[in-house]
Amino acid sequence: MKKISILGATGSIGKSTLDLIERSPDDFEVVALTAAVNAAALADAARMTGARLAVIADESRLPELEAALRGTDCRAATGEDALVEAATGDADLVMAAIVGCAGLAPTMAAVEAGKTVALANKEALVTAGDLMTDAVAKSGANLLPVDSEHNAIFQSLAGGRIDQVSRIILTASGGPFRTSSADEMRTATPTQAVAHPNWSMGAKISVDSATLMNKGLELIEAHYLFGLPSERIDILIHPQSVIHSLVEYVDGSVLAQLGSPDMRIPIAYALAWPDRMPTPAQRLNLADIARLDFGEPDLERFPALRLAREALEAGGSAPAVLNAANEVAVATFLDGRIQFPDISRLVESALEENNRPGPQSIEDVFEIDREVRRSVTAFIEERCA
Ligand code: NDP
Repeated sequence: MKKISILGATGSIGKSTLDLIERSPDDFEVVALTAAVNAAALADAARMTGARLAVIADESRLPELEAALRGTDCRAATGEDALVEAATGDADLVMAAIVGCAGLAPTMAAVEAGKTVALANKEALVTAGDLMTDAVAKSGANLLPVDSEHNAIFQSLAGGRIDQVSRIILTASGGPFRTSSADEMRTATPTQAVAHPNWSMGAKISVDSATLMNKGLELIEAHYLFGLPSERIDILIHPQSVIHSLVEYVDGSVLAQLGSPDMRIPIAYALAWPDRMPTPAQRLNLADIARLDFGEPDLERFPALRLAREALEAGGSAPAVLNAANEVAVATFLDGRIQFPDISRLVESALEENNRPGPQSIEDVFEIDREVRRSVTAFIEERCA
């Protein structure tokens, strides 16, 4: 029986993970669960799984969590140390599914503790890529990609060795604004931006998919996961989200992983690795789908993808700056205070102004993150005043 800890248990990935675990109760034991503010859902999940530790990041919600867990063997806790405890306790596998840089400390703690880490929290790897890959090398942790594209590459790499790979191709659905004009995107509402055509996901990643920043973050994520330079990672628009990504080998063979757009497939792969487990995901019927389309991304309408590639190539602090500015901009857009194209504009000016040195420690990453959040927020306040 595998012992599992789920960081971000109340989110979209967290809930899909719980759904799979509930369907295979003899294979998994949940030991710890975490959430940010949603104490009721966290307590429900703890009761359902019999977890022994439930951590709520927002301290003010602790009394509510304690009350909801009364009569169970589950301990309620809050604070950074408790989050790290959830990530490093006696779990064999840690599902890192907190959204944003907020997941960096517990994810890094799990890596340093040598755990098998199922990584959904791409922002953790984007902001601290070199530090995390060094920590993986030191501790012997396994970093298993949950992001469907990286999971597809991970699976396709089973057909060869990384030194036989000429390039990897990340597919992108193109998001809800794939065919929208620049004018339509200017007036896009948060509701339109989160309405992803193929995937059902949390609000932040849905907006990232609409700007294509998600693909940009995935480009940086792929660089750190697979050790390939920017010029050997291509992006391909594929609106049906059936081919989840491809690996081209030196002999010209291309291997890919296909499947229905259901995150339970890559999550199940990471949960069961190196084995496989059944999922209720719809089986792929290519005859029904009949056609698959492909195209180049439009970097004029979707500048976020260009900015992410530039940040990856600049290295140093640039990926952490890109991520922090994007997190603030997306949250402000979701609050209805800026327009959709402002997201990329804010990220671009944060990168232009950046002359911070690359982070040497995780504390440096947090310092960069705090500074960029402060300056982007101040810029927005000034403009909105
Ligand atoms: P959601 O917004 O649905 O869930 C986020 C989870 O993180 C919730 O449990 C939330 O708790 C918790 N959380 C949020 N902020 C904090 C914080 N400051 N401290 C501690 N916990 C926090 O996100 P998703 O599940 O969509 O995404 C999670 C990660 O997985 C992201 O990095 C995303 O990019 C990645 N990913 C997601 C995919 C998807 O299909 N959803 C696909 C591929 C990658 P609460 O509920 O209490 O707010």
